[in-house]
Amino acid sequence: MTTRRRVAVLGATGSIGRQTLDVLRLEPDSFELVSIAGGTRLAELAQVAEEFHVRRVGVSRPEDYIAAREILGDGVEVVVGGDGLAELATDADVVVNAVVGFAGLPVTINALAAGRTLALANKESFIAAAPLVERVRDTPGASVLPIDSEHCAIYQCLADSNTGPGHPDVRRLLLTASGGPFRGWSRERLESVTRHEALKHPTWSMGPKITIDSSTLMNKGLEVLEASALFGVDVERIDVVVHPQSIVHSMVEYVDGSVIAQLSQPDMRLPIAFCLGRPIRFDHAWGALDFTQAQSLTFEPPDVDAFPALPLAYAAARRAGAAPAWLSAANEVAVAAFLHDEIAWTDIVPIVSAVMDQFDDAPLRSVEDLVAHDAQARRRATTVIAGGR
Ligand code: NAD
Ligand code: MG
Repeated sequence: MTTRRRVAVLGATGSIGRQTLDVLRLEPDSFELVSIAGGTRLAELAQVAEEFHVRRVGVSRPEDYIAAREILGDGVEVVVGGDGLAELATDADVVVNAVVGFAGLPVTINALAAGRTLALANKESFIAAAPLVERVRDTPGASVLPIDSEHCAIYQCLADSNTGPGHPDVRRLLLTASGGPFRGWSRERLESVTRHEALKHPTWSMGPKITIDSSTLMNKGLEVLEASALFGVDVERIDVVVHPQSIVHSMVEYVDGSVIAQLSQPDMRLPIAFCLGRPIRFDHAWGALDFTQAQSLTFEPPDVDAFPALPLAYAAARRAGAAPAWLSAANEVAVAAFLHDEIAWTDIVPIVSAVMDQFDDAPLRSVEDLVAHDAQARRRATTVIAGGR
């Protein structure tokens, strides 16, 4: 038997984390789960640790350390917070970053700096840290495999592109978007959106933050930035196409007009297993489509008037530096405020826009810079929400 690939699942109690554990359960001969981390669901972490005989567990809050030690028992090391995540990120051959939000930063940076394979779901930290990620991506052994379904699709569609950095043989990357629950709604109708409606995604079941991002199309905006950073393609060569069925996960148009697409049922276990097993594909037909049944696939342009998050993300991409970090931080604060019923759905993107107006293009040179930018953008967003400037 060949040695099993050692896997760390950081963000193990979330939507992506749990689906990653499902994949590991089905392939026990291929993988060994060595460490996990999560936020505050200690009982769930303990259950997973016991099931997989995990040796190291990360919790997010220092006040949970004692309780975690007790519930996990001897023989399991407990690490805490961002420093804990950084440690766990160097622990395994494949590090799954399934943390939500900027909190995933230590995983992204440290996994790559340690020469690990980063299986990336946590787009927020990757976008915010893009110029810093560039520096650690060249570490011997380091690689990034995208779990995000669109990016995993593009990764597969680019298999034919071997003309070097920036993919000169590619005309455009075409990111598909379901359009979210409010596709086709007018600006007026959007005024009445409730939290319950925004949390119901038509094709995917995901964590609350990304579900709200999908409803505003900010998720797609973040994904444009993610694609640009992942594949080294300028955002001017990245287009968004609304495809409500979520069967075509993205496409690559080559300079000769040939378009390569990746299709499957919308099931995140497929891109997760793709990243974990690379270059092996596992024999589980999660994505299987039945072409004996009549079906149609439709495509339409996004409505950027009703969904201004998309142009806002392109604008942040053009400013580069810390602008994407500000965009993502302000959005995290606004989405959290919406989830706490403090603001209306239609306030989310204008709040992000107001924060971006205050960004002064200060440079982003180091992780310390980035952490300061993130904190500053959050403070500005909180002030805007409170009605100030
Ligand atoms: P989720 O809210 O369901 O799970 C988030 C996980 O992160 C939980 O385990 C939580 O405990 C953990 N976490 C949060 N803060 C933490 C901290 N400070 N330290 C350690 N752990 C912490 O979110 P999700 O839907 O699984 O999304 C995770 C990431 O994957 C996001 O960046 C999202 O954009 C991306 N993503 C998700 C999907 C999906 O289908 N859910 C698809 C594509 C990309
Ligand atoms: Mg996606």
